[in-house]
Amino acid sequence: MHLLESALQFAMREHGADAVRALVSPVIERYAAAEKKPRRQRGDLVKLDGTSGFGAEQDAVYRIAGRNEPDPCILCEVPGCQEWPTLERVDDAGNPAGEFAYHASECRMDDGPSGAG
Ligand SMILES: [Zn+2]
Repeated sequence: MHLLESALQFAMREHGADAVRALVSPVIERYAAAEKKPRRQRGDLVKLDGTSGFGAEQDAVYRIAGRNEPDPCILCEVPGCQEWPTLERVDDAGNPAGEFAYHASECRMDDGPSGAG
């Protein structure tokens, strides 16, 4: 931690405290938010936001699907956060809607209608 403090002090001397705060604060907020997101498993119903997953529709409900194992998330770097390769959209009754989203990270998921499972 001492090295990080030294690096921040150097950066503040070069660029000013406000510039460093503007750079660092969003990083801290994103990481802290990602840390609070629950871990998921196959079969969970989740909502995706507009930035999560290829093909994801805002506020649509998806079931974590597919046979492939998740990969470590590269968006947030929070240990344990995973990126799920395949999610299938479900309708209001929970039936498959025939649409898919891909590569969605847990840090960008919200609970679906029946919570985390
Ligand atoms: Zn993540």
